[in-house]
Amino acid sequence: MFRKDRLGGTLEELKRIAGDDNVFTGEADILAYAYDAGSARARPDAVVRVDSAEKVAPLVRLLHGAGVPFLPRLAGTNLSGGTIPLKGGVILNLSPLNKIRSIDTAAGVAVVEPGVVNLKLQEELAKAGFFYPPDPASQRVCTIGGNIGENAGGPLCLKYGVTSDNLLGMTVVTPQGETLDLSIDASGPDLPGLFTGSEGTLGIAIYARLRILPLPKHILTAVCSFASVDDAMKAVASTIAAGIVPRALEAMDRVSLDAAGGGGLKLSDRTGAVLIIELDGNSRRDLEKEMAEIRSFAAAAGSLDFREAADADERETLWAARKGAYPALAR
Ligand SMILES: Cc1cc2nc3c(=O)[nH]c(=O)nc-3n(C[C@H](O)[C@H](O)[C@H](O)COP(=O)(O)OP(=O)(O)OC[C@H]3O[C@@H](n4cnc5c(N)ncnc54)[C@H](O)[C@@H]3O)c2cc1C
Repeated sequence: MFRKDRLGGTLEELKRIAGDDNVFTGEADILAYAYDAGSARARPDAVVRVDSAEKVAPLVRLLHGAGVPFLPRLAGTNLSGGTIPLKGGVILNLSPLNKIRSIDTAAGVAVVEPGVVNLKLQEELAKAGFFYPPDPASQRVCTIGGNIGENAGGPLCLKYGVTSDNLLGMTVVTPQGETLDLSIDASGPDLPGLFTGSEGTLGIAIYARLRILPLPKHILTAVCSFASVDDAMKAVASTIAAGIVPRALEAMDRVSLDAAGGGGLKLSDRTGAVLIIELDGNSRRDLEKEMAEIRSFAAAAGSLDFREAADADERETLWAARKGAYPALAR
């Protein structure tokens, strides 16, 4: 177990590497980093603001050598207690590492620092007609580094996979302070896949190489309501059995819908569940054919209604209920 009094001698060294103004031990700072979006709580002894990727390795070597527990933190939206310092020690706040290093549409690769906010990356990619598939509901604030730590995914994971499916490589600092370049193209085991989802315990990503894809030309979104979750699942089973892979297929039960205030959806008293269905591709005719098939599967499963979004604004409205469900339930 880490003895807190050992931090004393390490503090000056932390300041030397990170900069005097980047090491925090005041009560307000400690309290601000004693919680995340999960339910656990524990106080760190110090918080270090890391303003350069090159400082991560020397900081880690120092902490490892001194036997001081440490962990990386970004937006703190994880639900697993991944940024709770159960043994005290030091939190490395990597939020300043928020640069998009390059976007190469010809190669389909973006290189980013870990503190880049997921939605910010999506916005930059959209300007070039591209997107990065992992889209957690928290994407307005969560970061690529946090997504790597948690192997995050969102509604698009059904078709495009989660973070580990969209990571081409990364530069990591191991818990001993060694810097490694990991690539899915290297021979041997899939090390990027192993590190992803390890909550930073196997290494801290300081750069990530992400797979980016051209935006599809067409997106069709529909919402379908059912009397029960079971009925909704029958429609899901028929859709998948027919070989149709929607970009998103999300079910919500009545409890989640009510918690989210209906999210702009018109619900009848009989509604026990809704299914949000989204298709994407470059042929509108193919998508319309698939949506018609899904509509018939839904009808066979006893759907109460089936509504397609007329435009992008209506799509956003249909998604608002899903994206607001977790915060609503947490409240
Ligand atoms: C309202 C809400 C909705 C959510 N929706 C989803 C969802 O749809 N899908 C989903 O998967 N999750 C979801 N989450 C969970 C959370 O948003 C994700 O886990 C997200 O990936 C965390 O990112 P973050 O920037 O907040 O990281 P943090 O919470 O700061 O860190 C997450 C983990 O990554 C580690 N870490 C931090 N930096 C690095 C690094 N550079 N290298 C390696 N590890 C690192 C941390 O130590 C920690 O263990 C949701 C959470 C909330 C509150």
